[in-house]
Amino acid sequence: MNTVLRNTPDLETLDKRYLFHPFTALADHERNGPMIIVKGEGVWLEDNNGKRYIDGMAGLWCVNVGYGRKEIADAIQHQAVTLPYFHSFSSWTTDTPILLAERLIEMAPVPMSKVFFGQSGSDANDTQVKLVWYYNNARGKPLKKKIIARNRGYHGVTVVAGSLTGMPSLHSGFDLPLSFVRHTTAPYRLWEAEPGMSDEAFTAKLAKDLEDLIVAEGPDTVGAVIMEPVMGAGGVIVPPKGYYKAIRAVLDRHDVLLIADEVISGFGRLGTMFGATAMEMQPDLITVAKGITSAYVPLSGCMVSEKVWRGIVDGQATLGAFGHGYTYSAHPLAAAAALANLDIIEKDGLVAQAADRGAFMHRQLQRAFADHPLVGEIRGMGLVGAIEFVAKKQPATRFEPSLKIAGRIVKAALAHGLITRALPHADTISFSPPFVISEDEITQMVSRAREAVDAVMDELV
Ligand code: PLP
Repeated sequence: MNTVLRNTPDLETLDKRYLFHPFTALADHERNGPMIIVKGEGVWLEDNNGKRYIDGMAGLWCVNVGYGRKEIADAIQHQAVTLPYFHSFSSWTTDTPILLAERLIEMAPVPMSKVFFGQSGSDANDTQVKLVWYYNNARGKPLKKKIIARNRGYHGVTVVAGSLTGMPSLHSGFDLPLSFVRHTTAPYRLWEAEPGMSDEAFTAKLAKDLEDLIVAEGPDTVGAVIMEPVMGAGGVIVPPKGYYKAIRAVLDRHDVLLIADEVISGFGRLGTMFGATAMEMQPDLITVAKGITSAYVPLSGCMVSEKVWRGIVDGQATLGAFGHGYTYSAHPLAAAAALANLDIIEKDGLVAQAADRGAFMHRQLQRAFADHPLVGEIRGMGLVGAIEFVAKKQPATRFEPSLKIAGRIVKAALAHGLITRALPHADTISFSPPFVISEDEITQMVSRAREAVDAVMDELV
């Protein structure tokens, strides 16, 4: 950002006049205007008034290698000068997407065969649904079209991905979800498990809920289930041990595919390169985005198993050439950024670092919040965590939603120079910092969060 633009006094006025913000309370925005970030370095951001913040969320769970990585900027610059763009339709392509596809297939958590590139997590999940449909048409199962997601799951906001997302607030006003989507129970111990329920019993209940739904719908009508290894926006919800083994057994009984939505968990967030490894998940299709480029430029991918790939290829005899793709599919500049980003992750050992710093962060969160009277649960895995606040612990009782507890904490945290997020449909705040965060910065992040929580709790008494 050059200094002329940075100091333009009218930026806030121009924003209010012209910029349509995503996921924003628009009437409030018209009154209050934007927060404008102009600079980033490591885990630190600076706004247009010179105020500095720890970015406790790595943007939207995505700037995994941190801000200001010159290696990625150089790779983007080099690619832009050499060849900014050519498409991948009709067997054309460029060099960097080929190299990236090879690298992704080599590093996949379970054997995968091909990668289809898009621009966002949402469009990738739309593509996954189309792949499942095409595959089932190709193998003569045209009724196998329903997709099951989970309550609280987040899979994006396009018309299909937004339907998969299991959050009523993202459906209302948009006539979603579409009719082929169903939702099953979230593995959300705080609200879905009986008090004192063992992991085994909770897993069995969740697997039964899914199987009952598949049977009620008719297994011949269900094509796939989509799940984040650990739910992000839905509340940082870590399923009980053995969950994905039980889910896979249900899906195998009914010939249903499993899509792992690794948009947040891919490339190290859970302390393993992929969430499927951490959670012992055996997907047929994997969605990646965010951390693939650390968000320096948009890129997403659908990894496809050999079984699905072969089914699609064989289907061409009756269905014709594969009629799906975006102008920007396999964009060479995005692929160059991804290759540079993966180089950093590997060279700097950032996956192991995410595991290590994650363990430190969880110890700090426990120390700062475990004995807090209004903390219902502290959860997470690797370098992602959340604190859920409750009005009463025994039995767990939610705050009145109109109190907007989490939103107020997030606002108070901003005053203390910390960016965190209030997650929808609960009083939960989340942490998902860049992997380069130091122990000292984690300590600062957690103590700023505690100050914010105390400030809001003081207002309640
Ligand atoms: N899937 C998951 C798990 C996500 O967390 C997100 C975004 O947060 C998406 C999909 C959608 O990605 P995008 O916002 O790039 O469309």
